[in-house]
Amino acid sequence: MPPPRFAVPIASLRRRTSGVRQVSTQGPVDDLAVLGAEVPGGADVAVELVLSAYPGGIAVTGFIDAPWRAECRRCGGRVDGSVHVEVRERFVEGDCTGEDEDAYPLDGDLVDLEPMVRDAVMLALPLAPLCADDCRGLCPGCGADRNAAPCGCAPVHDPRWAALDALSAGSAGSEDSGTR
Ligand SMILES: [Zn+2]
Ligand SMILES: [Zn+2]
Repeated sequence: MPPPRFAVPIASLRRRTSGVRQVSTQGPVDDLAVLGAEVPGGADVAVELVLSAYPGGIAVTGFIDAPWRAECRRCGGRVDGSVHVEVRERFVEGDCTGEDEDAYPLDGDLVDLEPMVRDAVMLALPLAPLCADDCRGLCPGCGADRNAAPCGCAPVHDPRWAALDALSAGSAGSEDSGTR
């Protein structure tokens, strides 16, 4: 089985006292999705990272880029975008406790960056994307896409106002009959 795509050998890096290694690679990461948005299956996630060894761990800094695809929350239309995330993380040996609580575990001579890549992209995916800031959405009356053309439906009123309209129409009618 080939090593994971985002796995980086670090033995030589860690043998040097101030080892630094640049990692520039890309590849698909499975199941990158949040409600309403996802990185399309098979699409490449690109990383440009610098790994720096320090006693007890590896610091990772750099950028991660990934395309995403989503549904507009108003009209349901397709929205495409991309994330460009800055990362600044640590991979440490032993227990990730204390100030290393949010670090990733480091085990052996290979560091797998994929969990970090996954977390960074997931956090950056849009939660409520819009196809355009002024998307008009779908008509609640007929379901037409109001971005394409006005559908001709009367503006839909808040139902509470509609009830008041009915009341005032009713009282207007009784006034009419009263004057007769
Ligand atoms: Zn839209
Ligand atoms: Zn309509």
